[in-house]
Amino acid sequence: EIASVGNLNFDVYLRVSELPGPDENAEVLDLYTGGGGSAANFAVAAARLGLAPRFIGAVGEDPLGEISLRELREEGVDVTYVKRIAGVRSGLVVVLVHPDGVKRMLSYRGANLGLAPGDLTPEKFRGVRHIHLATGRTELILKAKEVAREVGASLSVDGGTALAKKGLDIVRPAVEGVDVLFMNQAEARLLAGSHDHRTAVEKLARELRVGELVVTLGARGAAAYGGGKLLHVDAFRVDAVDTTGAGDCFAAAYIAMHLRGRDPYEKLLFANAAAAIKVTRPGARSSPRYAEVEAFLAS
Ligand code: ADP
Repeated sequence: EIASVGNLNFDVYLRVSELPGPDENAEVLDLYTGGGGSAANFAVAAARLGLAPRFIGAVGEDPLGEISLRELREEGVDVTYVKRIAGVRSGLVVVLVHPDGVKRMLSYRGANLGLAPGDLTPEKFRGVRHIHLATGRTELILKAKEVAREVGASLSVDGGTALAKKGLDIVRPAVEGVDVLFMNQAEARLLAGSHDHRTAVEKLARELRVGELVVTLGARGAAAYGGGKLLHVDAFRVDAVDTTGAGDCFAAAYIAMHLRGRDPYEKLLFANAAAAIKVTRPGARSSPRYAEVEAFLAS
């Protein structure tokens, strides 16, 4: 079993032809709703790859929270330890998709903010081999490191932009000793203060004391640094329709291979393939099953 800790959201995608001006109304051409939130997306991707994930996060006592939890249950994610907070609303993200392809996101973190370090108690992680933490909140990262040590689980962290923004002086001690640290190229550049992703990865590999540093490079693939070696894989050539949740799918697939004891190149390749499949389908949780990834790699 594994645990995924962090945000759960309900995503609403609105395809619009124009953005409304002040006091104006704009027509929504098309709409899509579905579960989101990085930690919850990771849990779903992990379940599809055959891991038995439990999700640890927080929802409000509202219909959106119920829908979000039901979706997770239907995917085989254990939601026993989700915190329910009265009087707040569950996380909601509205994405405006403009015809030019540009996305504008409005995030309401709501109940997600109610997940506190004190909620990460060892009882909730009993029997867990690996903990994935998708949050930039350093107080949660520090607590997760403690719990992981206590229950004997390995730990991965995907801190997103929120973590990268904090700068190296804060991030360095927070992530020290983490087994796998994930970030995308924008976050790596921001954290390293470098315009070039190669320089950024090299600098972060020197600066951060983590087991493995994995940087996803969008349509350019991904890079991993560990054990003194830097590896890179090119992205698979696919028709990308929606990259939402690609990083979460990538991380879940990487961890699935990590837990199988695969070598660094195999982990990177498998994750790159899983994420390539994901981007060909719309939705934050359209990640593939294990057999699909194997078939894709064999083709
Ligand atoms: P995030 O979604 O976190 O910003 P990226 O955009 O870096 O992360 O994408 C994560 C992974 O998804 C990449 O490392 C790659 O494996 C895959 N990916 C993303 N975009 C494409 C693409 N256009 N073609 C093929 N694979 C892609």
